[in-house]
Amino acid sequence: MDDELDTRLDAGLRERLRRVRLLLLDVDGVLTDGGLFYGSGDAEMKRFDVKDGAGMFLAGKFGLEVGLLTGKSSSIVAKRAQELGITRVVQGALDKVPALETILGDGRYSLSEMAYIGDDVLDLAVIRRAAFSACPADAHPLVRERVDYVCEHRGGSGAVREVIDLILAAQGKWRLVLEQYWEDAHA
Ligand SMILES: [Mg+2]
Repeated sequence: MDDELDTRLDAGLRERLRRVRLLLLDVDGVLTDGGLFYGSGDAEMKRFDVKDGAGMFLAGKFGLEVGLLTGKSSSIVAKRAQELGITRVVQGALDKVPALETILGDGRYSLSEMAYIGDDVLDLAVIRRAAFSACPADAHPLVRERVDYVCEHRGGSGAVREVIDLILAAQGKWRLVLEQYWEDAHA
């Protein structure tokens, strides 16, 4: 799987992916399909994809930290982040550049180690700064034209997993994943 996924990207992008240690994600339209469900009360609902969730879990386990950077603010995002052990979360960030500075504020990661997935024009400033940028298949055209990689999957439907799979492949981590989940299981 490491080799198979790796061939989708040119050598320059693969080299940048090899250095990525932090994957930042926009939420609405990336981790979700962009739908916002409102009822008559205060409750708001979003739908997440379990394969994206499993990908984020694997990422954390194999040395790729995931963070969330979203323009809206919602307790749902805090809950989902907590479930997945994601601690780098900035919400309510309509201007994403200061939010990016906050998220990188502890100096643990540099921009050259950061990948970002966004779907709309609010994300362009971060897309421009990221070492590797991607968008879901159904992102805004201005975003699709400017990212390093346009996913085959749509937002909320596997785009995040697709990028995590690519990063793990570029870093040769699938061998380690299989060692843990296939070989150990059958030992
Ligand atoms: Mg969005």
